[in-house]
Amino acid sequence: MRKESVHSDVTVVGGGLAGVCAAIAAARLGRTVALIHNRPVLGGNSSSEVRVWVCGATAHGVHRWARETGIMGELYLENQYRNPEGNPYYWDQVVLDAVLAESNLRLFLNTDVRDITAEHGNRIESVTGWTMGAERLTTFTSPVFVDCTGDGLIGYLAGADHRIGRESREEHGEEWAPPEPDRQLLGSTILFYTKDAGHPVKYVPPSFAKNILDTPIPEHRLIRTGDNGCDYWWVEWGGRLDTVDDNERIRDELWSVIHGIWDHIKNSGRFDAGNLTLEWVGAIPGKREYRRFLGDHVLTQTEVMAQSPFDDRIAFGGWSVDLHPVEGMYAQEPGARQRYSDGVYHIPFRSIYSRNVGNLLFAGRNISATHIAFGSTRVMATCATLGEAAGTGAALCAALGVTPRELHDGQLTLLQQTLLRQDASLMGVPNTDPDDLARAARACASSTLTRLAVEPVPDATTTLLPLDRDLAFVLPVDPRLDDVALLVDVHNATELTIELWDTLRGENAVPARRLISSTVPAPEGKEQWVSAHLPWQPDEPRNAVVIVRSDPHAYLHLVDQRRTGVLCLARKLAGESGVDHDIPEENGQAVAEWVARGLRRRSFCFRAGPTRAYDPDKTVGGYQRPFGGPQMWHAGERGEAWLRLDWDAPVEIGAVHLVLDDDVDEYLNNLHRHRTEFEIMPELIRDYRIEVLADGGGWTPVARETGNRRRHRIHRFAPFRTTALRVVVEATNGASEARIVALRAYA
Ligand SMILES: Cc1cc2nc3c(=O)[nH]c(=O)nc-3n(C[C@H](O)[C@H](O)[C@H](O)COP(=O)(O)OP(=O)(O)OC[C@H]3O[C@@H](n4cnc5c(N)ncnc54)[C@H](O)[C@@H]3O)c2cc1C
Repeated sequence: MRKESVHSDVTVVGGGLAGVCAAIAAARLGRTVALIHNRPVLGGNSSSEVRVWVCGATAHGVHRWARETGIMGELYLENQYRNPEGNPYYWDQVVLDAVLAESNLRLFLNTDVRDITAEHGNRIESVTGWTMGAERLTTFTSPVFVDCTGDGLIGYLAGADHRIGRESREEHGEEWAPPEPDRQLLGSTILFYTKDAGHPVKYVPPSFAKNILDTPIPEHRLIRTGDNGCDYWWVEWGGRLDTVDDNERIRDELWSVIHGIWDHIKNSGRFDAGNLTLEWVGAIPGKREYRRFLGDHVLTQTEVMAQSPFDDRIAFGGWSVDLHPVEGMYAQEPGARQRYSDGVYHIPFRSIYSRNVGNLLFAGRNISATHIAFGSTRVMATCATLGEAAGTGAALCAALGVTPRELHDGQLTLLQQTLLRQDASLMGVPNTDPDDLARAARACASSTLTRLAVEPVPDATTTLLPLDRDLAFVLPVDPRLDDVALLVDVHNATELTIELWDTLRGENAVPARRLISSTVPAPEGKEQWVSAHLPWQPDEPRNAVVIVRSDPHAYLHLVDQRRTGVLCLARKLAGESGVDHDIPEENGQAVAEWVARGLRRRSFCFRAGPTRAYDPDKTVGGYQRPFGGPQMWHAGERGEAWLRLDWDAPVEIGAVHLVLDDDVDEYLNNLHRHRTEFEIMPELIRDYRIEVLADGGGWTPVARETGNRRRHRIHRFAPFRTTALRVVVEATNGASEARIVALRAYA
């Protein structure tokens, strides 16, 4: 047995996605980091030990342009490339590789932290972990600690204020909160995988298997052959217990039910399951909920639904407020109740540091949110973005010698700008980085998309979509809109009602306020352009929604073309299933009512006139992701293209940061929940070079890239004094025109 001590700038405990992203974020900012994890595999509930699929702000594609960027975005893209089938073991390797790539980061697997020392009860001095298998006791010291243990053990041992269970309605005025506070929690779950062996396989249930016919499960939950892993998310129990203290008992109950379900599938004669066998059953319960720390702010359901625009926003979420009945799998009601905000919502920095332990940040399912708000923030891509924010905050605290609260009070702009510079998931915060030389430059390009339209392509497949429901499309209005024409087929002469709606917020893509309603005659005939006068000039560029009301005589032309910045929507009809077939959807939720099912990467044929939504200057000092418009430069012509910056006086440039379009509207999932057809997002530019203007007037290459498949690229080179720089796009990964989201230049 050995005893060791490790000193770092930042100590992160818990290697779920929150901890992984916290550690990577701090390491990338130049801090030394210890990441301590008590399992042999990183990833927490997403790991192959538990196999929960990673969801986030896109909410299975409900929210638009909502996929996370930053470290979580990198993990998604890398997994999509390496692991399009969603193999849980390949996902483990994607996460591990991301950690191993950081030279400032030391990883301690199999190391369980149980002890801490704290000074005056309000500052953690050290945490000590026991490495199983190695008989090693290690004491970790650092000026700042990040608790990403999920259960919140580190903060608890340090005396951090926290809650377990539900707040009363009176406490925060939350609609879904109970009248009285209680200890009810979301329960824990064990998942299992099955496979077809190709020959008959028998199943003799173990003695502890439960007869599920004696439970409400067969009547109230969907049991199907072919389901695997997180399809069984509803095998949940322990909401009335202490999910930590009773962890062993909960595991036994879950195992008894899993083997009971499998006995039912294999031996009841009701399923075609003769060749099926159990491939894997989890051994540790995936925990949904335990301690939630109290920070300087407690995020509430009201703020989630109102999308409160916190000044100290450091991340966003978009999953529904998703709460489950306390009886879990034994409940007679549906396994979940869900409600979505109208777009993504914001999470403040004050919710990720302790209000009473001075050097403690936290991220993941233990943040400072009420039980109801946690019902949304708990999904793992959101936990990961919170981790990136906590790691960034911790790195800055360590570098500046301040506490998280002091960072909030005195250096908020620095925190947000650092996050944005790292391409983290921030919504609606513009780049004001004083070090970014590009902000003082003029941008221009070889060509630019200046007309907003999707035209039919000769010989390409066109689908005629009946107006048996309201159809709509979101488009950027920049700076103004006048007429919108639609290509229609009309069987009997009719009058079409075409409306223009404001989305009201940069982060939203659903109709919120009607601006204009226009009735236009549509004579009988095929392939005719019908035009509506919809004049609108918002104060600043904004997305609008054009709605074509249902009409039994008319069809819109739908083509397989994706126009960046434009989204097509169809209104859900009464009785149609929602996102999850077994979870009832509440009425009156705009994002559930206006759906993209069958319309992704397709567009109605329309003409909407000139636009500045794709101008080159969108790449400089902008939002770095769709917000009230696409927020990127989009070339107007196919093939090689360039984007250029010019300065009035020479500047010295030693680094260029590029943010490329990876289509944040495309919903990615790490496991088998959803399959995206592209292994590399086609809009990402693949081959490019960066050139600076030399004294004599010629272009000098300073960086060249081939085979790129990432969104965020940083190129460093020997400093060069110049008055102009350009990025020459030689090829994309499939898209016909070049696009660049952001271009930064640093000394
Ligand atoms: C069955 C189930 C279904 C769910 N469905 C979804 C879903 O579909 N999509 C989704 O995104 N989210 C889902 N969630 C929620 C999500 O999995 C959790 O909210 C999320 O994993 C929390 O992330 P985290 O990093 O905070 O914690 P965790 O993923 O729990 O990771 C924390 C890690 O810290 C380690 N640790 C704990 N204590 C210590 C210690 N003392 N020392 C060292 N290491 C320690 C733990 O072993 C653990 O691996 C589900 C959860 C469950 C259980």
